[in-house]
Amino acid sequence: MREVDIMIEAPGPGDQISVMICESSQVQLRILSKAVEEAGYRVQTARSAEAVLEQMQAMPADILLTGIEVGAMTGLEACWALKANPRTESVHTIVITASGQESRLEESLDAGAYDFIRKPVNMTELRARLRAASRLVRMQKQFRQLAETDSLTGVANRRALMQCLEAETAQARSLGTRVAVVMLDLDHFKRVNDTHGHAIGDRVLVETVKAVQACLSGRERLGRLGGEEFIIVLPDVAPEYAALMAERVRQAVEALQIVNDPGELIPITASIGVSISAPEGHHDSPDSLLLAADDALYEAKETGRNRVIFAGTIMPAARRAAG
Ligand code: GH3
Ligand code: MG
Ligand code: MG
Repeated sequence: MREVDIMIEAPGPGDQISVMICESSQVQLRILSKAVEEAGYRVQTARSAEAVLEQMQAMPADILLTGIEVGAMTGLEACWALKANPRTESVHTIVITASGQESRLEESLDAGAYDFIRKPVNMTELRARLRAASRLVRMQKQFRQLAETDSLTGVANRRALMQCLEAETAQARSLGTRVAVVMLDLDHFKRVNDTHGHAIGDRVLVETVKAVQACLSGRERLGRLGGEEFIIVLPDVAPEYAALMAERVRQAVEALQIVNDPGELIPITASIGVSISAPEGHHDSPDSLLLAADDALYEAKETGRNRVIFAGTIMPAARRAAG
């Protein structure tokens, strides 16, 4: 039993659970922070519900441990607000109730809190409740990971890609930056399957992903749209960079060295369509970017495959950059 406790309380550096503690009393906050930190969690603190929401927007914590009366806004209202935002909806809230606040337990759970703990806080009980919360948080993370990952190649799946593109276009709009979509489709892939078998086809998909990943740097996100079609989302990007990236990817796929059983090289190429959101003042939707990249990709197929085509009239500079 102790061993299990120790294992759960000493997570690896990569999966350390973060806890945000919100209490209006500085003394309470200090005592709770110390106890939670000593139990092996990463701790953030806030003195008001408003501060919780602000900090959670910047960097959501896994668990929120909050009192009820914590400023103009209550801890329960903060809990509602977290639930209403996709970025923070999975934050696991534990409400700390003072004596006389029993009637608010039902309200707390209805507000989306998962658990509660009574004041004065018993530290052994607090640690046990945090361990229980951590198990749920980890399980939820694993489910989310599975739901967002393509099982063959390990990159983002269509659903995660769409969420990413949605978030990046919104960000680009608010910051006045540009987001590009590089859409890639392997050429004559059906022929690879038909000639060499589905298993080799799968290997080609996996090797393609590795080759494309090696071209990426920073915040670009690669995902599998489906079949032999992939997308790279490039946030905060100039047309020239998107063009260079697309061309680099095309060359990396063409350079793949995959051999069949008799040891013959299987030629692999990809056609690529690139779109980019207009500069400041315009509002390109994810759909319009995808459609534009798809049209460009179609043109790449029609004009001979194994090439990069830029959407519409957007990028004379990009065409020059790609040579
Ligand atoms: P084009 O150059 O016009 O894109 O031709 P294509 O043959 O690549 O395109 P088509 O859409 O005709 O065929 C795509 C093939 O991709 C058909 C399908 O069997 C194969 N495919 C889709 N998903 C997978 C997969 O997960 N593994 C394997 N091995 N093949 C897949
Ligand atoms: Mg294809
Ligand atoms: Mg296709």
